[in-house]
Amino acid sequence: MSHRFAPPDYRGASFILSAARVSQCPPDQGIEVAFAGRSNAGKSSAINAICDHRKLARASKTPGRTQQINFFSLAESLRLVDLPGYGFAKVPIEMRKQWGKLVESYLGARRSLAGIVLLMDARHPLKEQDITLIEWVARSNIALHVLLTKSDKLARGPAKATLLGVRRNLGWFPGATVQLFSALSGAGVDEARAVLDKWYTPPCDGAQ
Ligand code: GDP
Repeated sequence: MSHRFAPPDYRGASFILSAARVSQCPPDQGIEVAFAGRSNAGKSSAINAICDHRKLARASKTPGRTQQINFFSLAESLRLVDLPGYGFAKVPIEMRKQWGKLVESYLGARRSLAGIVLLMDARHPLKEQDITLIEWVARSNIALHVLLTKSDKLARGPAKATLLGVRRNLGWFPGATVQLFSALSGAGVDEARAVLDKWYTPPCDGAQ
């Protein structure tokens, strides 16, 4: 009999650990999906909305953990990962270099990483560091899904224009997908979960 895979229960997410180095990450088994974006892009709010949890991503806001990779468990061997935010102009150059080293080595090393969800404020998409990250993701052969956040702050016309513009801009990235998202109104939460459901489905290789 075939074994049907059940999508993860996002509501059951729980914090595992924070890693300051790739060597501190949980064992590289199963499937994980990582969320990335500029500080203030709405990453914590999006993770909380997708997991229907008010304070799940709070760990990432704890001083000292903001520059770390935070891991959450959704089910056995299925993890959601909160990458440190970037883009603070005031952050010392050394700290920015640290961010780059940590994130680039994570992206390059992590075999269980099925995809990156990149969050960008719908009013300010595709800043320089977003593009740097997108290029790393492309180079690491990892899938990309973009959430254009805080879409409630834009009228329907400009929101649609931004969506189409970002899609066009990422046309070179094979398979990249883009959507509007609002943690405030809940718009786009189901669409985002549907992408995650697919990424969290183990490849069907016939092995049992
Ligand atoms: P992070 O730094 O990327 O984790 O961003 P946060 O989730 O902490 O959000 C940054 C700010 O944007 C906070 O003041 C949030 O209340 C606000 N915010 C986040 N998501 C939304 C949204 O969907 N709509 C609106 N209007 N504000 C949002």
